[in-house]
Amino acid sequence: MMRKRIAVALLLITGALYERPGGSQTAPTVRIGLTQNAPTVSIRSAQPFTVQQNQTRTAKFTMVVALDPAAANRVLTRADLQYRPIVEIDGGRIVVVPKNERVRIDLQGNAGIDVDNRTYRGSIEVFGNSRNTFTVVNELPLEDYLLGVVPNELSPTTFAELEALKAQAVAARTYVVRNMGQSKNEGYDICATDACQVYMGQGSELPLSTQAVTETRGVIATYKDQPINALYSSTCGGRTEDAENIFDEKLPYLVSTICEYKHPVPLAFSTSRSFPDWKDAVLEVAGVSNFSEAQHFMGLAVRGEPASSDLTTLASFIRQSFFPNVLTSSDLSFLTEQGILSSSDQIPLKEILFRLVDKKAAFEWQQGVLISWDGTTMRLLVEGQPKDFNLSPDAPIYQRVGDERLPMSQGSWIGGELMDFRAVGSKIQMLVYRINFANPAADRYSRLALWQVHKTRRELDAALKAVNIGAIRDMRVIDRGPSERPVMTEIIGTSGRRTVRALRLRTLLGLRDSQFSFDIERNAQGEVLGMMFYGRGWGHGVGMCQVGAYGMALEGATYEEILKKYYKGIELKKLY
Ligand SMILES: [Zn+2]
Repeated sequence: MMRKRIAVALLLITGALYERPGGSQTAPTVRIGLTQNAPTVSIRSAQPFTVQQNQTRTAKFTMVVALDPAAANRVLTRADLQYRPIVEIDGGRIVVVPKNERVRIDLQGNAGIDVDNRTYRGSIEVFGNSRNTFTVVNELPLEDYLLGVVPNELSPTTFAELEALKAQAVAARTYVVRNMGQSKNEGYDICATDACQVYMGQGSELPLSTQAVTETRGVIATYKDQPINALYSSTCGGRTEDAENIFDEKLPYLVSTICEYKHPVPLAFSTSRSFPDWKDAVLEVAGVSNFSEAQHFMGLAVRGEPASSDLTTLASFIRQSFFPNVLTSSDLSFLTEQGILSSSDQIPLKEILFRLVDKKAAFEWQQGVLISWDGTTMRLLVEGQPKDFNLSPDAPIYQRVGDERLPMSQGSWIGGELMDFRAVGSKIQMLVYRINFANPAADRYSRLALWQVHKTRRELDAALKAVNIGAIRDMRVIDRGPSERPVMTEIIGTSGRRTVRALRLRTLLGLRDSQFSFDIERNAQGEVLGMMFYGRGWGHGVGMCQVGAYGMALEGATYEEILKKYYKGIELKKLY
């Protein structure tokens, strides 16, 4: 979804683009490196274009080795091999491109150019590089480039808030203005991956992100009149971190801030039906109190009730009614394996029915994150898409705390709760919610606002191999930053100790964010058995928090307020 940028550009700002006196009315042009290592490149367009004066609609670039016939039977060195780019155009015609020549493809109309199945605006340049592969560059106006960046950096589908997308557009524009010409030696300005900003061209554009780019045309974020290093990451976990604690660079506008705009207003809920045991609620909502009803609920042939409650009779009845296609030598051992019956204990009917409904996944739980609730309509983010539901006034509601499900006849939500629910159409019949955030931060809508990861001893030793301390014995935090991220952590092993910084530790351990605390599990001899990490957020946590920007926009913040929240003391400036 979103980039976790770890590289901080240390380039000086030399771009003529920014210093253009008096400002220009037209957006500057940027050159984006689509690939640097392509062995072949396929280009096509609905509009004809020309390759070395030959008209075509398709062009396939390949690198061939050209050899003189006199080379036969001679021993050559690698340096003797002459790599030549060739292009196959319509009708199987081959065009040989002179060495070091750049093939430029310009279109007359607005058709867009397909490069290896992605569509781009502007012009395409293809040329061979020193690695004997192809570099592909897309040259286009900066504002057109942003149309293909913003939806890939902050999804307008999942995070459908215009002001958040506008903040993202300004951050992305500022980034490219500041880093213009970074890859000049490679023949372009910046790359198209998450090492720079993710750019996927015209094919990835969406109306809401396009509107965000258009409405902020030419606007960048500046500090002391210079474009800022507009770092951003997905979810800060409640508080962003000072740049110097994660990266080496100290910047006055990249300082820790609480990820909060307005204190959330609790939104009350209540229900007319409550059952102390959530399993009762499931059966009640499903309308299941005997086997016939269970068969009906699951859409199976209704075969009535078992002839007796004798375990063998019951087992063959259940197996035949609910698992008709399973061949088994012993129905009882099959159902014991499935966790539905037990050969030693008598299981109450209600529990057997619940287990059947659960095992067959007949209740059809869905999951979503609460975005808004007005007492009737509930907007949930389900699989990245916002969807509206009506909460039935008699839907049993539970709060999940650990493995417990507590019945709630009334209570309140603030948004960001993780909901497990059953809906028929858009009507929610039962709901189990979990609070998946540590504090009422603007980024509480992220699924990664709160997370837990367990690492075994073996995983820890493998992860920490690079720091060369032998087997792990202990780990302790020496210094934490304002967001509680462990800025300095000492790792002690059988053959040494090492101090590592936040970003390095996170990378070594492969965790979502460096904002975590941990418990070390030990055996009776005190040896490390494993570790449990309790973390918050996703990304490096410096600069703009993208889900926080979304949360602020939901609460009514403008893009300027969002940017000034995460980048301290900045000014917005319109370049053109
Ligand atoms: Zn945040």
